Amino acid sequence: MTASRYRYRYVGPEELRALARPGRGGRALRGPEDLREAEAGEVFTYVVDLDGVMRLAPRRSEHVVCAGGEPVLGAGEISFRPAGTGSWAVAEVGNLSTGYCPDLASWSAVATALDRAGIRRPDGFTEPVVFRWCPGCGQAQVVRDAHFVCVFCDADLPPEWNGGLTGSQ
Ligand SMILES: [Zn+2]
Repeated sequence: MTASRYRYRYVGPEELRALARPGRGGRALRGPEDLREAEAGEVFTYVVDLDGVMRLAPRRSEHVVCAGGEPVLGAGEISFRPAGTGSWAVAEVGNLSTGYCPDLASWSAVATALDRAGIRRPDGFTEPVVFRWCPGCGQAQVVRDAHFVCVFCDADLPPEWNGGLTGSQ
């Protein structure tokens, strides 16, 4: 199974990529001590960087900025809840990032990053998002209710994640 090893390239608007600063991405989540009590329930933008470390930024942040402009192993939104003294657990986590459009297979990188940080987690995304690119018109989109038809041109969307269609982007 190689899907978990996908590196997701940024596929969003160039003007947002221009805001990213290499080496100045979101703050690393390396252990429970990196979360503050006041942040319980707060929704963060996250990426999993190429070293497998989860990086957090305030919710309205662009994923590409959180990633310092780099490709990622995963991206989405996440929130945490206290789980006993000094411990944290994931409250909700998903892969909603229109900048990277990560496959559901990015979960393994997300899970590994959380395990390394000692954060308790669910067995999968609680808020999964299915991204596809239309082979007809090329538009990236979110598939809703397992309806694999392009919302722009009615072409059929493939059953498998097809980020490869973004080519050189
Ligand atoms: Zn289409």
